[in-house]
Amino acid sequence: KANRQFHEDDSVIDIDGVKVGAENFMVCAGPCSVENEDDMVALGKKLKAAGANTFRGGAFKPRTSPYAFQGLGLEGLRILNVVKEETGLPIVSELMSTDYIDDFVEMVDVIQIGARNMQNFDLLKAVGETNKPVLLKRGMSATMKEWLMSAEYVMAGGNDNVIFCERGIRTFETATRNTLDIQAVPVIQKESHLPIVVDPSHAAGVRHLIPSMAKAAVMAGANGLQIEVHEDPQNAWSDGQQCLTPDEFAELMQTINVLLDVE
Ligand code: PEP
Ligand code: MN
Repeated sequence: KANRQFHEDDSVIDIDGVKVGAENFMVCAGPCSVENEDDMVALGKKLKAAGANTFRGGAFKPRTSPYAFQGLGLEGLRILNVVKEETGLPIVSELMSTDYIDDFVEMVDVIQIGARNMQNFDLLKAVGETNKPVLLKRGMSATMKEWLMSAEYVMAGGNDNVIFCERGIRTFETATRNTLDIQAVPVIQKESHLPIVVDPSHAAGVRHLIPSMAKAAVMAGANGLQIEVHEDPQNAWSDGQQCLTPDEFAELMQTINVLLDVE
């Protein structure tokens, strides 16, 4: 179902009124983790003004260490809903367990499946039984074929609303957190009719690479970007080293909009 053979035209995914795919560009921005309500609402307003059309924030966090902050859980989803009420921005958040699927169906607009769960087949089947848009991140060591098959798991259950997200893969390189595989954009677009967005934040792992990688993604033809932004990156509850400030994000968006216009 994900194969272009069965659907020649680009698919357009409707995220509570925000369209993604073909000529419609997704700009998903927000912190790694949902933090307190006032800060999230203030950030959401700035991001919307700068050109974001969806807000991201993790309420359930897949952390390498069990002692690291694990996310606010359902309280995080509640805060995200306040952000949506105040800004109108649809909400993207990561689901880690089938236990919370009903809460996500009720409270988020896009269910993110994280890199670490790209081949959690029970989770993929469960989101396949909903009709929520799914942002399917590439596993850190997944081939494009495996990634396409994970989309197939979601679609096999009847949910055609899948968006791929390239977020960097593991290589021998240690200068960056992961290696952004920009080639995934044209390869996936050739193989599939589904949109693909690029997350330069988790690929780079360091702030200074985000603008150049975001621009590269646009020029490669990506259908959108996911970028981590925090008011005070130094004090972010997770992934601060790779967060842009709202001002840096706004400046990047001006360039992105020029690139999208000339493309
Ligand atoms: C995230 O989006 O905060 C995240 C954990 O991403 P990934 O699954 O790509 O590592
Ligand atoms: Mn993160």
